[in-house]
Amino acid sequence: MPARLKENTVSEAGATDLLPPVQEGIFSLPAAGETGSPRLLGGYCRACERYHFPRERHCHRCLGPVEGADLGNTGIVYSFTAVRAKPPLGLPQPYGVGFVDLAANGLRVFALLDPDCVDDFKIGSSVVLAVKPLGHDGKGRPCLRPYFTLQQYPTESEA
Ligand SMILES: [Zn+2]
Repeated sequence: MPARLKENTVSEAGATDLLPPVQEGIFSLPAAGETGSPRLLGGYCRACERYHFPRERHCHRCLGPVEGADLGNTGIVYSFTAVRAKPPLGLPQPYGVGFVDLAANGLRVFALLDPDCVDDFKIGSSVVLAVKPLGHDGKGRPCLRPYFTLQQYPTESEA
C-alpha cells in the first residue's frame, strides 16, 4: 500500500533528511550530526540596504542585484490569526499564520505558525523558527515546511 508507506516515512524521526523543502532556498538546516536551529534564508539589496523574504532575483525597489542573506531564526509576532476553514496543501486544521518581525533585521515576514499551539500565540510573543514535515507541496508530495513556534510554551498552570 504505497499511501500507507508514504505516511510512515513522513512520521518517522529522521525523515527531515529525506523530504524536500516546500520551496528551495527559504531555510537552512543544521548539517547532519550537528546541533543547531533551522534558519530563515532570504535576500539583501546593498543599494537599498533592505532585506527580502523570500529572496527575489531583482530588488523590487531598485531592480538591482539581490544577494543571499541569513535572516536569523527568531522574531516577535506582530499579528496573527488562526485559520479554521478547510486548510490547503494538507495543512492541519486549524493552522495559524501571522506577521513576524525578525529579530536580526526587523524585516516583517508572513509566515506559518506552529499548528500545535495555534491558540497560544499573542501579539508580541517571542518566536523561533522550526522546520518539520508538514502538509504537501501542492502536488501531493510530503515536504518540509518552516514555521514559527513559541520560544516558551505556556506551562500547564497557564494553559
Ligand atoms: Zn534595491
